[in-house]
Amino acid sequence: EARDAVDEARMQVAKLIGAGENEIVFTSGATESDNLAIKGVFEQLRDKGNHIITCSTEHKAVLYTCKHLEKKGASVTYLPVDKHGRIRLDELESAITTKTILIAIMMVNTETGVMQPIKEIASIAHKHNILFFTDATQAIGKIPVNVQEYGIDLMAFTAHKFYGPKGVGALYVRRKPEVVKIIAQMDGGGHEKGYRSGTLNVPGIVGLGKACELCRQEMDKEAQRLKPLRDRLEQRLLEIPGIHLNGSPEHRLF
Ligand SMILES: *Cc1c(COP(=O)(O)O)cnc(C)c1O
Repeated sequence: EARDAVDEARMQVAKLIGAGENEIVFTSGATESDNLAIKGVFEQLRDKGNHIITCSTEHKAVLYTCKHLEKKGASVTYLPVDKHGRIRLDELESAITTKTILIAIMMVNTETGVMQPIKEIASIAHKHNILFFTDATQAIGKIPVNVQEYGIDLMAFTAHKFYGPKGVGALYVRRKPEVVKIIAQMDGGGHEKGYRSGTLNVPGIVGLGKACELCRQEMDKEAQRLKPLRDRLEQRLLEIPGIHLNGSPEHRLF
């Protein structure tokens, strides 16, 4: 029964993001997924190169993972953002070197809701034969995300940011048309296709799956509820002298 429940949850998660069931790796949350993706690619492609491109407004789970890898021989470019909190695509492209193995740019910012130009970033990455990882924790369950349409190789997210339980999340690892290979950060019994050993958190995973299913059905309605609340809060705050909007009025959630 437990096995069936996990299988069903895997299907629910995959369906929300347009992935295959065999492309979902269950983890303890986005922090672990970020670590697994970035460290996993770095170790896998160490012979090909050591350069990672990310940006200065990433979540600490990405920034400090990159800092950690700098001590292990990685070279990391932290792209700045413009006044609307977005990276510049020309700066991204000119930061690429022959040693670049990974571009790690979040989909939606944790504090400002600013959306990065994900499709454009993915196509620049693939043009240069570089893997593209996105921390989509603030996007999943709130806006439609299709990993194939966006051209994402690896994607992290966590259940409790969309009404699911705490302590469970997932990493999407692309398998089609080619398998994206990463080195596991947890060695053991080879669970989750060897990407993440350790007995599965069945109740957490079931909760993650259910949250994905509900979000798939209700996210449009929920966005319609949240947007006017956000707009009203923002409008009233902006009436206070000296307050300005930190972020982008255009490229953001909802
Ligand atoms: C919340 C958050 C995380 C961390 O998620 P955990 O479930 O606490 O590991 C990582 N990245 C982003 C963008 C977040 O908003």
